[in-house]
Amino acid sequence: MEYPDLSPYEYYEFPLSMRNIGWLGPSFTPRPPAPDADPRPLRAASRVLSSVMLGRHVCPWCPGETTPGGGNGEYHYYAHDGEVYAAPAMLLHYVEVHGYRPPERFLQALRVPGELPWDDRAERLATLLLDPSEDVLLRTAGIVDLASWKHPRTLDVLLQAAHDPKLDVAGDDIGCALALLPYDVPADDLPELVRWGFDLQRTTDGANP
Ligand SMILES: [Zn+2]
Repeated sequence: MEYPDLSPYEYYEFPLSMRNIGWLGPSFTPRPPAPDADPRPLRAASRVLSSVMLGRHVCPWCPGETTPGGGNGEYHYYAHDGEVYAAPAMLLHYVEVHGYRPPERFLQALRVPGELPWDDRAERLATLLLDPSEDVLLRTAGIVDLASWKHPRTLDVLLQAAHDPKLDVAGDDIGCALALLPYDVPADDLPELVRWGFDLQRTTDGANP
């Protein structure tokens, strides 16, 4: 599927409105990456996939090759100006191998320093996650994204979610999000699947600090 950059994201239901980045298709022409392109800010901002879907996306320009990162899932980027961007797991591959250059507005958003303050987006994801009357798929869609806010409230919300039996299905996501926070987490008290996700993410970070 091909979507124009910055068009409204509609691929699947998500609690926040997002804009598309890098959903490339036939209208894109691959080229060598520009020598002055610096992929480091993008790489640093693309640590963890927000949602991993069933099914694989294969790079249209690398037939027969296994796409790095498995090719499925999405990265979500939370800009300080309130915008949210959604990109396919292959975004880095497109940039580093096929010379795709994301819109300047998106690249600039990645360069804004400092932690995100708790805002409406965080509140929406947190409220939804803890609301037992909401649909479980929608409640769990933004779990990993919540770790974008390095905030004590994120820790509090995720620990509550970890002990909610209705959210067992997303235990690994909750553990992953907890591991992304710069806090001491009482890992020994976590349910088994949450602990598994937590340990897996901390191990990954240890291997790629
Ligand atoms: Zn490729």
